[in-house]
Amino acid sequence: NLSDKLDKAFHILKGHGKITEVNVAETLKEVRRALLDADVNFKIAKDFTTKVKEKAIGQDVLTTLQPGQLLVKLVKDELTELMGGDVAGINLSGNPTVILMAGLQGSGKTTFSGKLANYLLTKKNKKPLLVACDIYRPAAIQQLYVVGDSIGVEVYSEPENKNPVEIAQNAIKHAKANGFNVVIVDTAGRLAVDEEMMNEIERVHKAIEPQETLFVVDAMTGQDAVNTAKTFNERLNFDGVILTKLDGDTRGGAAISIKSVVNKPIKFVGTGEKMDAIDVFYPIRMAERILGMGDVVSLVERAQEQFDEEEARKIQKKIAKNEFGFDDFLSQIQQVKKMGNMKDLVGMIPGASKAMKDVEIEDDAFKHIEAIIHSMTPVERSKPALIDVKRKARIAKGSGTKIEQVNQLMKQFEQMSKMMKMMQGPGGKNLMKMMGG
Ligand code: GDP
Ligand code: MG
Repeated sequence: NLSDKLDKAFHILKGHGKITEVNVAETLKEVRRALLDADVNFKIAKDFTTKVKEKAIGQDVLTTLQPGQLLVKLVKDELTELMGGDVAGINLSGNPTVILMAGLQGSGKTTFSGKLANYLLTKKNKKPLLVACDIYRPAAIQQLYVVGDSIGVEVYSEPENKNPVEIAQNAIKHAKANGFNVVIVDTAGRLAVDEEMMNEIERVHKAIEPQETLFVVDAMTGQDAVNTAKTFNERLNFDGVILTKLDGDTRGGAAISIKSVVNKPIKFVGTGEKMDAIDVFYPIRMAERILGMGDVVSLVERAQEQFDEEEARKIQKKIAKNEFGFDDFLSQIQQVKKMGNMKDLVGMIPGASKAMKDVEIEDDAFKHIEAIIHSMTPVERSKPALIDVKRKARIAKGSGTKIEQVNQLMKQFEQMSKMMKMMQGPGGKNLMKMMGG
């Protein structure tokens, strides 16, 4: 599925500290493939990756310290923007507020009418009225009564009246007379777009002048959803989109395409058959869902916030001049620590918490390392080569650690410095090529 595909795409980047231009192109190609697989329209997917690539180059992704993370963030930000950026609220200004549901048969209008009524009743302290304007099938009216009963919301219907315009108008009168402040009008749909249905919904729309006309669409219908949205928008100029059946691993590609094509916000999503399976649509969360990155994104953001670029540059210079010492090592540890508790950080990485569940993570995993470094003299810190056996024994004693622990840290430090020098030095370019460039 889409998440797996993108996981693979991002894997390339997460694994390596640095990436190459080839890497960026490869990854974005993978991102595009994943979007196409999620039923995102070809042109939209192509434009999307082109835009991200341009931005990536503009921001000099390749020369930053964590290019992979920056690219991940760029992709997520762009995707969020593509789906509308901010949360689109629902306009409840009318008295009563009139909300009209439109969409094909089976898209989930009746179910969503109930969910929305329940949401407004329990979360927004409203007194909603449900109106049955699907007069072609007696079962449809019955269905709305079952829904209304289950959430304790009154249903207005006129089974003998075959004129949905009149029913809707009468319902609004009824609402005004009885203190209902929201009127949700459920309408009839057909299996495909047809003239009769369009004319009818258009007439109802004109007659009741709803504050909110909501186009309900089944997220599972992919590309078809886009065409239907286009037709309904041309006739109704609707205010927002409701994306239903977004439960399980339904691909969210429709969300991207619809927003791009009709330029109307997605306001809610339906995530199940039950009345509480409704969520406000958050573009950022949807982007994360589509990218399948879980909390990796917020982890990246936190890392970015905390990462002091100035400091990073200083350290790079020091490495180049062979001056990287334990003080720098310590400040790097402090950078990592600013990001939060190690347990929390590990928990944010998808899969990692499962894999790590048997591994005991100390609350302060760096305690020993810090203690050892603090027990070194300033000279020892900047010139680790000075630290001989005698000094090691003193440091171990001073930090309350064992000499093996000091040895271990020295070894780690040595390996790290060696690595860093190789990456920086004149042979660095060749090394980068060898490593996947
Ligand atoms: P309408 O013809 O547009 O009124 O569609 P309905 O509200 O009758 O829904 C059609 C079918 O889709 C019903 O079986 C609903 O239970 C189901 N349904 C509606 N919304 C959702 C949803 O968000 N998730 C799932 N899994 N099923 C849904
Ligand atoms: Mg219905």
